[in-house]
Amino acid sequence: MRLLTNKIKRFFLDLFFPKNCLGCKQPDTYLCRDCFNKIPLASNNTCFFCEEITGQGRICINCKKEKYLDRIISASEYKNPLIRELIRAFKYHYIQELANPLSQLLIKVLENNFNISSISSTSSILVIPVPLFKHRLHYRGFNQAELIAQEIAKHFKLPIETNAIKRKISRAPQAKISDIEKRKTNIKDVFDIVPSEVEGKIILLVDDVITTGATLSEAAKILKQNNAKEVWGITIAKG
Ligand SMILES: [Zn+2]
Ligand SMILES: [Zn+2]
Repeated sequence: MRLLTNKIKRFFLDLFFPKNCLGCKQPDTYLCRDCFNKIPLASNNTCFFCEEITGQGRICINCKKEKYLDRIISASEYKNPLIRELIRAFKYHYIQELANPLSQLLIKVLENNFNISSISSTSSILVIPVPLFKHRLHYRGFNQAELIAQEIAKHFKLPIETNAIKRKISRAPQAKISDIEKRKTNIKDVFDIVPSEVEGKIILLVDDVITTGATLSEAAKILKQNNAKEVWGITIAKG
């Protein structure tokens, strides 16, 4: 049944979402090399929350106490129109093959800022995608954060754990809640965790977009409560 639903989805997808570069409209690709190379990469020079200059995506000491994240590293800015189109196509039009080029952007940014293999020689690094609610996973057929996490893990030869954290209760999707305060309470205490998986490790917590940081921060909180050494929020876009 699910296979059939996916086939039907694919049919309508091709009908309504023809395969043209989302940047320059050239055929047979969703993102051509030229447009890929032109996407401006985020500098990650400041604390995501207060914009204090810190470098390498570091969260400043004050914000860290409240947000539980050590770094937030994003590949690009959501306000870039091409990035916005790409993420929209990836998430809402189910164009799964965009996981690769979008992850490549993130890999570029990570490589520009860090020597991951030297970090992983002294600390264990674990890649964890931010989980989706089960019903939304069934509806969409894939977790977009997980696809990106898999590419990151594969590239840097890092272990990935997709079941270390789980969503507890289903609530309204974050995007539908405009009020920032309401968004914060909406995601409070929604995660469950397998503690043994995260203890003493640097967690690369992967999501597609960071807006307020509330989701990543809530997940980071439970990771830290279970003795994760550091939590880095890793996203395709911010803003
Ligand atoms: Zn193009
Ligand atoms: Zn700060």
